Amino acid sequence: MIKYYYPLFRPPAEANNIIIQVTLGCSYNNCSFCSMYKTKKYEVRNLKDVYKDIDILAKSYPNTKKVFLADGDALALETEHLLTLLSYLQKMFPKLKRVSLYASTQNILSKSNDELVKLQKNMLNLIYFGIETGSNLILKKITKGVEQSDIIKSLNLASSAGIKISATVILGIGGVIYSQEHITQTAKIINRTKVNYLSTLQLGLEEDAKDNFYKHFSDFEPLDDFRILEEQKRFLELLLPINKIIFRSNHASNALHLSGVLPKDASRLINELKVALEIGQGAFIPNEYRGF
Ligand code: SF4
Repeated sequence: MIKYYYPLFRPPAEANNIIIQVTLGCSYNNCSFCSMYKTKKYEVRNLKDVYKDIDILAKSYPNTKKVFLADGDALALETEHLLTLLSYLQKMFPKLKRVSLYASTQNILSKSNDELVKLQKNMLNLIYFGIETGSNLILKKITKGVEQSDIIKSLNLASSAGIKISATVILGIGGVIYSQEHITQTAKIINRTKVNYLSTLQLGLEEDAKDNFYKHFSDFEPLDDFRILEEQKRFLELLLPINKIIFRSNHASNALHLSGVLPKDASRLINELKVALEIGQGAFIPNEYRGF
């Protein structure tokens, strides 16, 4: 068995795939709503140690087709370092078809188009990306360190290199006051980029993140489930994607689970939301069955 350095996070879609920690923590680690890696100092793991993990996993799972590279933003690694890793993964897992990782706007913008193309050609073909919101005002309040134009530029750089994008948006992150601003500006990002998978989750602040979050967002007033679903409905109404998007809103945090393909299923999804909003609380998943 290999040794994992906890806490360890991976996207739900990677639950059945091999996870290899190539970095520890998050190179940015400064978003006010996020406490995932607050107990970890960012570190690049030594290639020799990573190779040892790969060797052990390759012996146990020689038919592996999909690998996820952890931790919080493995695309922060230098391109040459990543290419060396990708080449070793292809050697040790001959049936490998896909390598994925979490990536941030900052990570993508630190690479050239040629570097991203090289990575894609070496099987880095999916990134998990937290948009959170498209509003510059809210991005500042959640200390994301980027603006809407940076997010759009980075997503377009990734997709033009042939890398697929699985993006998340956080419902409720603008609170009551900036709800409309959040939805309008976030829809703009989706409509100006080529996201392949899109998930919406609901904001849930861990206890240890609250002080820092409110310090930067003093006028934040949380939305209840009803208003979150209204936000979700307005968001779907504003989406005019330029490509097909697999849409999911089925995270443990969601008050209502939705899934479909956009734009084809948009009116069905909006209708499901209308019905749930008419019924009210009784149609929502009870809090005891949810997690954040
Ligand atoms: S949200 Fe992502 S980029 Fe921001 S601190 Fe958390 S892991 Fe890092």
